[in-house]
Amino acid sequence: MKNNILYVVIPCYNEEEVISETTKRLKSKLSELIKNNIISKKSRVMYVNDGSKDKTWDLIKEINKKEELFTGISLSRNRGHQNALVAGLLTAKEYADVVISMDADLQDDINAIDEMLDKYFNGCDIVYGVRSARKKDTFFKKFTAEGFYKLMAKMGVEIVFNHADYRLTSKRVLNEFENYKEVNLFLRGMFPLIGFKSDKVYYERAERFAGESKYPLKKMLNFAWDGITSFSVKPIRLILSLGIVATIISILVFIILLIIKICGVGVTNFALAINSIWILGSIIIMSLGVVGEYVGKIYNETKQRPRYIISENLNNK
Ligand code: UDP
Ligand code: MG
Repeated sequence: MKNNILYVVIPCYNEEEVISETTKRLKSKLSELIKNNIISKKSRVMYVNDGSKDKTWDLIKEINKKEELFTGISLSRNRGHQNALVAGLLTAKEYADVVISMDADLQDDINAIDEMLDKYFNGCDIVYGVRSARKKDTFFKKFTAEGFYKLMAKMGVEIVFNHADYRLTSKRVLNEFENYKEVNLFLRGMFPLIGFKSDKVYYERAERFAGESKYPLKKMLNFAWDGITSFSVKPIRLILSLGIVATIISILVFIILLIIKICGVGVTNFALAINSIWILGSIIIMSLGVVGEYVGKIYNETKQRPRYIISENLNNK
């Protein structure tokens, strides 16, 4: 147990206000885990500077000089939370046996780390941190965030409800994760795809203790849209269904108009002309849906996700 090296990966974008407090709290947490022989003393906290425009990177370098347990990498420019996280995870896995990702503002309760490690030592390869309550979130944040998880589920994307990017992953999961080459990242949807034994740990999400959220509404909406379009072809299917339903209805209306005409009741040419526009329009929508199906298939192929991952092979024992 005690020879397992843990890396805690933390993306940071303009976080000069929080980084020293975060360092203080994580230092005591990691020291305690090392002292209790739960993790190796080679364990580290790895800050990922995501092209910050303030003093974040200078502070990280200072901390790295003073504190043995802290290290860092810096991206050449701002690439966004998800990319920064991947950079950190894939770098950390070269040194670590197990990696935990979390935010710089410690909104995620660091005491959940103990329980996460517990589950890891009991054979779990992925442990999801799940928010048990959102008491501290504003009504708007809670409403939009939970609505987002529900919408994702409706769209057929397999994600863990109320789980963000506070997560433990083992080295072998990260080795498999490296084979997912897509650039439109939605990490919380990707890890469930990888499989392996996983579990959840519940914690209460606190308020950001300093600084502002780096996820304003616009970024959040973009992220949600990315999540849906990266994982689901349901929007395309909706177009196809709409086209089929519209075609059926307009053809039915045509038949009705025809019967009425045959029966000798007056049907204006105008009605027939409108009806023919409807028939043509709905056939076009349906065709778009069919074309979309192929586009969706091409999209899935270009991602080149692994077709399967073998978790155990008895031949190698
Ligand atoms: N972050 C980042 N790059 C960005 C935006 C955010 O690395 O372009 C980091 C940020 O420093 C923080 C984490 O992503 O550690 C989550 O951001 P934040 O706490 O602002 O989001 P919220 O908790 O409000 O959703
Ligand atoms: Mg936050």
